[in-house]
Amino acid sequence: MSTFQAPKGTYDLIPPHSATYLAVRDAIAAPVRRAGYGYVETPGFENVELFARGVGESTDIVTKEMYAFETKGGDRLALRPEGTASVLRAALQAGLHKGGNLPVKLWYSGSYYRYERPQKGRYRHFSQVGAEAIGAEDPALDAELVILAHDAYRSLGLRGFRILLNSLGDAKCRPVYRAALQEFLRGLDLDEDTRHRIDVNPLRVLDDKRPAVRSQLADAPLFRDHLCEDCRAYHAQVRELLTAAGIAFEDDPTLVRGLDYYTRTTFEFVHDGLGSQSAVGGGGRYDGLSEMIGGPALPSVGWALGVDRTVLALEAEGITLELPASTDVYAVPLGEEARQVLFAQVTELRRAGVATDLAYGGKGLKNAMKSANRSGARLALVAGERDLAEGLVQLKDLTSGEQRPVALDALVDEVRKALD
Ligand code: AMP
Repeated sequence: MSTFQAPKGTYDLIPPHSATYLAVRDAIAAPVRRAGYGYVETPGFENVELFARGVGESTDIVTKEMYAFETKGGDRLALRPEGTASVLRAALQAGLHKGGNLPVKLWYSGSYYRYERPQKGRYRHFSQVGAEAIGAEDPALDAELVILAHDAYRSLGLRGFRILLNSLGDAKCRPVYRAALQEFLRGLDLDEDTRHRIDVNPLRVLDDKRPAVRSQLADAPLFRDHLCEDCRAYHAQVRELLTAAGIAFEDDPTLVRGLDYYTRTTFEFVHDGLGSQSAVGGGGRYDGLSEMIGGPALPSVGWALGVDRTVLALEAEGITLELPASTDVYAVPLGEEARQVLFAQVTELRRAGVATDLAYGGKGLKNAMKSANRSGARLALVAGERDLAEGLVQLKDLTSGEQRPVALDALVDEVRKALD
């Protein structure tokens, strides 16, 4: 028993389960990498102001959930609660938008931190893979991102997810809708916190999950009835492109998401096998964010998919990923001389690209064979003094149990053939 436990709301990734996480990250990244997105990595913490301005002063993420702290040097920093603001900050800082080659397409993968009430699927430390296309206003880019996320989930075998789609308008129609919504909300019977929200962020009231609030929202004005002509046309094109690509989506006029920077297209991927934390990923267009953090106008669109919840979705659908065995060959030396010879052979095999492990710690044959079986290897190499004296090792097929001697100097080739 260890004295220390992982902090509340966090958990460790441990083999063999951790291999699924790596595979999920790779699977999500594969479609974006094929679509011209370059890898970006930013620090785990940023100036707290970046998130306050970028994500929004009145959002739960900033007011309640941020791990903010002051350093010994007096800097006000925060552990990153999301990726978009940091990635845009990095792109602006590096001047990537100045090359005349827009959009700048970037993808990332990493840890994010939110001081949330932990429950299944909601953690204080979680993992996202994200993609951002910065500096272009083109409905095809919005559609591309939805398709890439869809294809990532499909490549993992997932089928039980739905895509919710909405438009949150732009700087022209948003204020008109906001005012109409505020007027409606002010006529409802709401608690003080929610009333306050009507003033600072009325769209988020639409996102309230409490039945007492929900029941009063049935007649709330919907953004789709207030979109300006440009936003309406833009949204129609996104929908057409998705439909033409065979992507099924549901229009959800109440989808607002918890971050302030979204404009126009917003979308969420939800999985019905996950209970209350059903959003596996989400994103949208954020045309004003660059200016909010001090950059030039750079209309952009992106998403972040949660790795933790994607793994939970796989479990909910009973999907086990077919992962390559971590060990193909397990070497069992019997005696000191064998240990030296096999150690050298193991190194050779690894250099030849064969995943190979060795029984360490002077184990006896029986124990070593148990480890060989546990490792998942298909082949064992067993060498004792007598075999070695003749320049041989025994190559054992761990599935059939068959064993045959193989010349040491032909070992790499023989192993390769046996694994083919
Ligand atoms: P958001 O930035 O809130 O839109 O989140 C994007 C995705 O990240 C969500 O759909 C979740 O899959 C994942 N996510 C967000 N917050 C958490 C959390 N506290 N724990 C686990 N996953 C999360």
